[in-house]
Order: sequence, then structure tokens, then C-alpha cells
Amino acid sequence: MSDTAATEKLLSELAARIRTWARELGFQQAGITDCELESHGERLQQWLDAGYHGDMDWMAAHGAKRWRPDLLEPGTLRAISVRLDYLPPDTQPVRILKDPGKAYVSRYATGRDYHKLIRKRLARLAAQIEAFCADHGLDARGRAFTDSAPVMERALAEKAGLGWIGKNCMVLNSGAGSWFFLGEIYTNLALPVDHSEQPNQCGECTACLKVCPTDAFVGPYQLDARRCISYLTIENKGAIPEEFREPMGNRVFGCDDCQIICPWNKFAKPTAEADFHPRHGLDDGELLTLFGWTEQEFLDRTAGSAIRRIGYERWQRNLAVALGNGEASPEVIAALEQRLASTTPLVAEHIQWALARLRSGRRRKRKIRREP
Ligand code: SF4
Repeated sequence: MSDTAATEKLLSELAARIRTWARELGFQQAGITDCELESHGERLQQWLDAGYHGDMDWMAAHGAKRWRPDLLEPGTLRAISVRLDYLPPDTQPVRILKDPGKAYVSRYATGRDYHKLIRKRLARLAAQIEAFCADHGLDARGRAFTDSAPVMERALAEKAGLGWIGKNCMVLNSGAGSWFFLGEIYTNLALPVDHSEQPNQCGECTACLKVCPTDAFVGPYQLDARRCISYLTIENKGAIPEEFREPMGNRVFGCDDCQIICPWNKFAKPTAEADFHPRHGLDDGELLTLFGWTEQEFLDRTAGSAIRRIGYERWQRNLAVALGNGEASPEVIAALEQRLASTTPLVAEHIQWALARLRSGRRRKRKIRREP
């Protein structure tokens, strides 16, 4: 056997092992793809040129590094893409969304932050690959990512066969829906790529585009982040524009509507990862209780959670809007009035909006949806 044929055989064996190791590490799926992302890069540039990224300057900051993995990590030939399901068991998103006294937290954020867990597992996977290569005289270099660098995660996942990018801009898997995190390893190894891409199966469906509370989809596959409740409640550091406050309803951290409505999510399976199970009742919290947290309580109860990164001020801002969209009970009005005296101008302005709304007797309009 020639040296080239022997190396190809080794790399095929390694690719099969990578899939097995990924499963042993708790990932539901792993795929391997080349790094040809030029067409995705062109679409990203058009999206950025339209200003749909809002204040997320980091989306534009790295230029071609995002769609040229070899510019980010020299020598990269392949990306290994992995999937980790996160939907907590017994989660009832629609029940929470329908209850104006409850706070809706995006289901990915009710447990522990996923970055550390995925990074640790990807590091183990990378170490296994390096050990295999060291044993077989191959030079392996790689770098692991999870939502932590300019990496086109969804495009790579689609190319690696983990699903297709749906009209809601999420990766959808025909056997697992879209409630999952992604992670990647860039590698210099010329591993055989997967040729098992899932065809786009959105068909004529437009449910996600219609259900969006703030009409954030400019069209299929195109999201104006500036209108998206996830952006408005998490990335946006300033005031929430008034036109979006009523449609926010009781969503205080992110929004899952375009996933909840997606018919493919009937195939989603609950996660067995204890880290992703809800903590401190964040999957079912009362708005008034959460609004009553002191800053120290906020820091204590969101330690290790993705929620912590928005900080206490934005947390209070979002809760004030949600309270303004709920019932005008004496307790709610008293809590808002009390907080007015001791808060920041940003939060105070949102409290004033909420109080004006509750006193005028306006109630939020709610859309009725089915449970996934
Ligand atoms: S709701 Fe319909 S159109 Fe939207 S992502 Fe799901 S299948 Fe595609």
C-alpha cells in the first residue's frame, strides 16, 4: 500500500472513531465537513451591509476570518461539528408564555451556561484525536470552539450533515428538531468529509415567520436582529424601543417562539444533561418574585447561568416591561413604584412605561399556541 493510501485509510478510521468518541462524550451527533463557506460568507456580508446585526459589532469585526477557517486557524482543512441537545425535560414553554404572571426565560438558559461544558468535552475529543495521531505518526493540530469565536457554526453544521438551516435561521434536524447547541473543532487533518447533508425540509411552511411577535423576519432565512426579542432582551444594552415592548409579553430573557412553533420540534428529545436542567425555578418563575431580587440575589441565583451576563440592570429593565404587560394588581404597582426610587435612569424609564400602561388598563395581546 502506498503512503498516501495508508494515510487515507488511517484518516477514515479516525473519522469513524471521532463519531464514536463524540457519542461517548455525550454529544448526540458529530459530522465532518470541508471549509468551503464562500457562499455563506457572501450572504453574511449582505446581512451585515443591511445593518441587521444592530449593535453586535463583533459580528462584522473579523471579516473573512468568519468564512475562511484557515485565516482564523492557519492550516485548517476540516471542521468537526457536534450537536448537544438541551431541551429540559417536562418543560412547558407555552404554559409559561400564556401566564402573564410568569417570566419566560429562553429554554437554553434555564440551567447552567453551556459554554464550559461543551468546551471541556471538545477539549477531550481533541485530546483523543491528538493521541491517535501521535500513535500513528500523524501531525494533528486543532482548535475547539463553541459560540466563542468568529465561526459560522450553523453553516458548518449544515454541511457536516447535522441538519438544514431553516427559514427561522436555526439548524433543524429531521430526527431531533432544533433545541440543541453546536460546537466545532477545526483541524489540519484531511479527514474524509460527510456526504449526508439533510435536504431542506421546510417546504411550504412559514409558521415561524408568522408567529414571530415582533415580525423580526425580513423574509425566509433572513432575520433583522434589531427586532428580535433575543437581541432586544440580551444583546441590547440600552432602552428597548417602545414599539417592541408590548409584543415582548412576558419574555424576559430571549425568545423561543420560532422554535416552539416549528413542527420538526415534535422530534426533539429532552436532554439527560443535569447541567441543562432548570435551576432556581428559572423555567417557571413569577415576574414579581424575580423583580424583587436584590442585586446580590441576582448574582447568586444566576451564577453559572447565561443570564448573568446581561447584568442586574438589564434584568430589571426586561422584568419591568414584562410586568407592564401583565395584570395591574396592587402588588405589582407597589413593587414598581417602590423600585423607582432606587434604580438607574434606564430601568426607571421602563418602570414609568409599565406603570402608565397598567394604570391605563391596557393588556397585552397574546397569541395562542400549542405545546411542542
Ligand atoms: S416553522 Fe416551518 S418554515 Fe419555520 S423552520 Fe420550522 S419547518 Fe421551517
